[in-house]
Amino acid sequence: MKFFIIYSVFAIVGSCAETKYSTKVENLNNSVKVTDSSLISKYSKTITPSELEKNLFKFSSKEFQGRGVSQPGQKKAASFLKDFYLENNIEVNLQTVPASFLPEKITTDSENVIAYIKGEEKPEEVLIISGHLDHLGIDNDEIYFGADDNGSGSMAILEIAQAFKIAEKEGHKPKRSILFLHLTAEEIGLQGSLYYTQNPKFELSKTIANLNIDMIGRVDKHHSDNPNYIYVIGADRISKELNFINEKTNNAFTNLELDYKYNAESDNNRYYYRSDHYNFAKQNIPVIFYFNGTHDDYHKPTDTPEKINYPLLAKRSKLIFATAWQLANRENFLLHNTDI
Ligand SMILES: [Zn+2]
Repeated sequence: MKFFIIYSVFAIVGSCAETKYSTKVENLNNSVKVTDSSLISKYSKTITPSELEKNLFKFSSKEFQGRGVSQPGQKKAASFLKDFYLENNIEVNLQTVPASFLPEKITTDSENVIAYIKGEEKPEEVLIISGHLDHLGIDNDEIYFGADDNGSGSMAILEIAQAFKIAEKEGHKPKRSILFLHLTAEEIGLQGSLYYTQNPKFELSKTIANLNIDMIGRVDKHHSDNPNYIYVIGADRISKELNFINEKTNNAFTNLELDYKYNAESDNNRYYYRSDHYNFAKQNIPVIFYFNGTHDDYHKPTDTPEKINYPLLAKRSKLIFATAWQLANRENFLLHNTDI
């Protein structure tokens, strides 16, 4: 009997504390509202399958030689991205990542491409949309074209940036600044993002979130019957509020199945640690990693642009654009889980 009484007291205390936390999380979810719906619908229409296709066929063509870090093809890729921003009147700079920072086998400097739209109300705060521009280059005389990895994410960022720029021109500047960050040397150990976080353009403490895109143009075998999906990884780990925002923008605009399978802490693929967002997460910046999963052409010379599903790539890009819009324009910084 005594044992039973003690047990009951603990059970009551335990359940009260738990309710309190889950109520707070529920309240947080309820407080998230999607804003600017008609503007987002309007400008997301500028993200089209045909533009993605045209750019990706170029970016993953022979000319770019698989974009191996510091190779001439990678330099061409960086120039291609830079030229796109210049043509669209978006400020852009190259950030040199010195050879001395990179693994020993690399003897030439490389570069991150950093484009930027200035925020109107809180210009010192920034949202970072990132994706890596490099791939595996040439091996045994074979070009690794990397159309999905990560031509798809690179081209998505261009289209998202263009949509924000068109909105800006029509009087809808973002509240916060937005950085479009094309990172080098991801394939050799997330080096470009590590370099950026050690040499940031905005204080890391003023970076509201990082949306990282790496492979979003294909469909994996788990979804061959229902391609209307995207894996969302890491979104709730630092800020559950970020995850709620992404879910609500998806409900409002894109209705993709958000697959959280690879977000499980126990997942042994450990994707959370395997692309550039992880260097931001290490700095306690909330991140989302958008990913289509792997496929038979992953890290093979057969990852080519005619295998990309362009309407799906456009739809996924629109989700990221809509989530980015919410983050760039919301009143407050994201609530971190440690402050709930
Ligand atoms: Zn990749």
